[in-house]
Amino acid sequence: MINLASIQAAESKLLVQTYARLPYLFVRGEGVHLYDADGHEFLDLLSGIGVCALGYSDPAVTAAIEAQSRQLLHTSNLFFHSGTAELALRLTERSGLDRVFFCNSGTEAWEAALKLARAHADHARSNGQHVGTRFLALEHSFHGRSMGSVATTHKQKYREPFSPVMPGVDFVRFNDLADLRAKFSDEICAICIEPIQGEGGIHPVSQEFFATARALCDATGALLLADEIQCGFGRTGRWFAYQNYGILPDVTTVAKPMANGIPIGAMLATDRAAQAFSPGMHGTTFGGNPLACAVACAVIDEIDRRGLLAHVTEVGTYFRRGLDLLADRHDSIADVRGQGLMLGLELATAELAEAVAASMFNQRIILNRTSDTVLRMLPPYILERRHVDQAIAALDRALEAASSASASGAVPTAQSGEPFHE
Ligand SMILES: *Cc1c(COP(=O)(O)O)cnc(C)c1O
Repeated sequence: MINLASIQAAESKLLVQTYARLPYLFVRGEGVHLYDADGHEFLDLLSGIGVCALGYSDPAVTAAIEAQSRQLLHTSNLFFHSGTAELALRLTERSGLDRVFFCNSGTEAWEAALKLARAHADHARSNGQHVGTRFLALEHSFHGRSMGSVATTHKQKYREPFSPVMPGVDFVRFNDLADLRAKFSDEICAICIEPIQGEGGIHPVSQEFFATARALCDATGALLLADEIQCGFGRTGRWFAYQNYGILPDVTTVAKPMANGIPIGAMLATDRAAQAFSPGMHGTTFGGNPLACAVACAVIDEIDRRGLLAHVTEVGTYFRRGLDLLADRHDSIADVRGQGLMLGLELATAELAEAVAASMFNQRIILNRTSDTVLRMLPPYILERRHVDQAIAALDRALEAASSASASGAVPTAQSGEPFHE
């Protein structure tokens, strides 16, 4: 018998304690819903932190896993297989970039981007150009947990326990053009930008800031790196969030939703940037394996076949309007941000956000709290208007209850003191 209490007890003894899990045990998923061991249905507005874009038990995903697992799971990058070029063709056609490096996670994709930026700077120097070795990243950024990624991640609690991390990173105030210009020089090999910051609280970079970063890089030969691990791959209604700005980065990274839960990541680059890597300079055993590639191709084809980018825009706009109307009615909502199905509701205090998140779980709706005060929604792309209506009604009740509780001084009941993270 699968039982939450016994699994909790076993994990507390057996696992390295890196996660503060919420006390839920899911055993099955179907469409936009997860089911716990007692058969309770939860509406999932988080999709495994932006991963399960096609929801759960999607027939095309299941068929791709089944067919590929009967044929070939893995051969290594010593040999060719048909899936890597098929997936790379789909990604380059949609991104406007020329070449792809495959890996297994977001942080690995970002790590590849950082290494490529350093290799590219080295390449430029050997051609008599001066490009330094330093990076500019943004305040409130999140780029992953490996040593390079964490060095470009702003939040101190992720970096400090591991210092010294990779040196040579300066943080620019978010959307502050003067700070960007002041900190940029020919010592910079790359500017790192999430077009919409995810973990930092759903903050879209401004058009002027992104365009200025592009122009500064163009002037010195530094690379513009766009981290689209959370905001890319259709999440905002376009394949890549930078396409909402009409700006092409030199390098982008994708991962989370690429294969609907099968681990995969990719770094995409222009020909000019990609030529800094030559055989042997970088690699990974599992990267671009036949299973992950086959499933990612199936996900892309399914998004196209079902017109899900237009659907994300349509349902996302509807969701956004619902949140804006809630904000008109509830003073506790400080801001509504995001695009497509990447949405954030900023509340006045962390206590309110915690109480509202807890109330949503009690109403069997899954979302998460990030950066203390922000409720984040990254639902599957197959979300329908009726699910949005259900979520808005539940948020309305949760906000009502949380505000009257805080007005009466009652302590909110929450499942976890810590917001959960990527
Ligand atoms: C999740 C995330 C990462 C890290 O991805 P992992 O697969 O967890 O390593 C990097 N950048 C952004 C923007 C992310 O959202």
